[in-house]
Amino acid sequence: MTTIAAKLQQVRARIATACRQAGRNVEDVTLLAVSKTFGPQAVRAAADAGQLDFGENYLQEGVDKIAALADLRGRLRWHCIGPIQSNKTRLVAEHFDWAHSVERLKIAERLSAQRPADRPPLNVCLQVNIDGGPTKSGVAPAEALALARAVAALPRLRLRGLMTIPEPAPDFEAARAVHASARALFDQMNAAGLGLDTLSMGMSDDLEAAIAAGSTLVRVGSAIFGARPPKT
Ligand SMILES: *Cc1c(COP(=O)(O)O)cnc(C)c1O
Repeated sequence: MTTIAAKLQQVRARIATACRQAGRNVEDVTLLAVSKTFGPQAVRAAADAGQLDFGENYLQEGVDKIAALADLRGRLRWHCIGPIQSNKTRLVAEHFDWAHSVERLKIAERLSAQRPADRPPLNVCLQVNIDGGPTKSGVAPAEALALARAVAALPRLRLRGLMTIPEPAPDFEAARAVHASARALFDQMNAAGLGLDTLSMGMSDDLEAAIAAGSTLVRVGSAIFGARPPKT
C-alpha cells in the first residue's frame, strides 16, 4: 500500500470514529482531500485508493493538475477552496466542479456568467467569517442570508452551503464551539428555506470537533499528503 493510501485509510478511520461518537452516519460526512502543493501523481495515488473529491487553493496550479489528470476527469470532483479574485473567476467557472470560497456577489455573478453552457451549474459554498478572525476572509454572519438569497438566484450556480476557516482553537471544546456557531447559522438559513446540504468545515487538526458540531464536509490536506513545503 502507498503511504498516501495508508494515510487516507487513517483519516477515514478518524472520520468514522468521530461520526460514531457524535451519533452520526459516516455517509453524511464527505472527505475532501486538499492536494495543494502536491503533484498530479499524489492525486492519482489517492484516486487509486478510492478518493474522489480534491481541493485546490492556487488556481493555476489546480488547473494544471486537472489537465495533467484529464484521464480521470469524469471520475473526480475538483473543488476550489482558495481566494477567488475577480480576474480569476473564468478559471474556476471553466475547470472546477465546486467553489467553496465565494464571499461577494460580484464574484458569484461572474462565476455564473462564465460557467460554460455544456457544464452543469457550478456548486457553490459561501465562505463565512464565523469567528471574525484577523484574516477577514468571508462574509460576516449577519450578512450571509442576504448574500445567499442573491447567489441562489443566479442561473448557472447551485448554492450548496457554507464554508468556514476558523482560527486554530486552543482545545477541542473551543474548536467545537466555533464550529457549532457555523452549524447554527447553517440551520438558521435552512429554516429560512435555502435548502443547503453542505457545511464545509474541519481540517487535519480539528476534523473531530467539526464533525461533532455538524460538519458535512471536512477538507484534509497534511494528514493525507504529508507536510507541505513552506510557501515560496
Ligand atoms: C490547506 C487548506 C486545508 C487543509 O489543511 P490541513 O491542515 O493540511 O488539513 C483546508 N482548507 C483550506 C481552505 C486550506 O487552505
